[in-house]
Amino acid sequence: MKLGIVGLPNVGKSTLFNSLTKAGAESANYPFCTIDPNIGIVPVPDERLQVLGKLYDSEKIVPAAIEFVDIAGLVKGASKGEGLGNQFLSNIREVDAIVHVVRCFEDSNIIHVDGSIDPLRDIETINLELIFSDMEILDRRIGKVGKGAARDKDMAKEADLLKRLKAHLEEGKLAIGYETEDDDEEAILKGYNLLTYKPVIYAANVKEDDLMDDGVNNSEVAKVREFAKNEGSEVFVICAQIEQEIAELDEDEKKMFLEDLGLSESGLEKLIRASYKLLGLISYLTAGPQETRAWTITKGTKAPGAAGKIHTDFERGFIRAEVVNYENLVECGSYNAAKDKGLVRSEGKEYIVQDGDVILFRFNV
Ligand code: GDP
Repeated sequence: MKLGIVGLPNVGKSTLFNSLTKAGAESANYPFCTIDPNIGIVPVPDERLQVLGKLYDSEKIVPAAIEFVDIAGLVKGASKGEGLGNQFLSNIREVDAIVHVVRCFEDSNIIHVDGSIDPLRDIETINLELIFSDMEILDRRIGKVGKGAARDKDMAKEADLLKRLKAHLEEGKLAIGYETEDDDEEAILKGYNLLTYKPVIYAANVKEDDLMDDGVNNSEVAKVREFAKNEGSEVFVICAQIEQEIAELDEDEKKMFLEDLGLSESGLEKLIRASYKLLGLISYLTAGPQETRAWTITKGTKAPGAAGKIHTDFERGFIRAEVVNYENLVECGSYNAAKDKGLVRSEGKEYIVQDGDVILFRFNV
């Protein structure tokens, strides 16, 4: 699972990315400073792993992970090739969801490419580039399908969808907000892999003072919230600069720092969790003396599919899953105690795995 961090230059993308990955990629007051997409694998915070790890005396703890890509340098005209625009756009095409960073902080030392702080204008600038790029894809498809529409029913249906979809984008709206008429249309739309069909989280980058009340008193943040609500997207408030400082601290220092700010978790932890949710992801857990580990699955995955995340043999030879809920297991204090209480269930092929299930798979090799 891959998330792309996008936004205009100088809004704090690299700062956010750096704190996410602690990779230390260049962050400077200079547009285009991060031309190559930077990729970082970021662990998904999950307190349950430490608890289970202790319970099983595991040698190793392996959290779930998601990939973040810092997609720098989107500017006005990107879809026409400005500022390496096409390259950036194709990087976005490869991600599953978008974190759109918007600048809601004032700082006269940091140049804004359009001269002033106006997150709604910035959102529109970026979204328009994404829309233009999608429009090109639709036009190409319209050219292809149009020819066949007279003699092929499916093509005629698609041509009709394309026409409506294009009109929707021409209003400056994102494809994700388009209401398809049936599942067939939805499948076709999905197949285009449009940039504006990807789910978006807006990250409102604020100054430190705005962090404590979650940006409630920042009128720009309020506008972003209103906008996102209409679009059906999520917003969350972050101070990239603070996150970068937090990322340098060790666990204890971090806790103290956050307490001083009146926060229970860092903005990044919130962001990672929100992204996970946005993508419809959950984690099931495996535990043993060797390792305790979280595995990422899409909500609704059945037991054999979940087993396949560990190894394809587990899926192919799946017999059953022995499942205990994390909380039940921890309350009982051990797997055997949970078993004695009848809390370990034996589940078959049709079982839909839940977040926090601790699972032992039985399979044939
Ligand atoms: P990018 O071009 O979007 O990747 O922006 P950068 O992350 O390189 O940030 C541009 C400049 O803004 C850098 O000098 C950062 O230190 C600064 N910056 C980033 N986030 C914040 C923030 O939350 N507050 C303030 N005051 N400055 C920030």
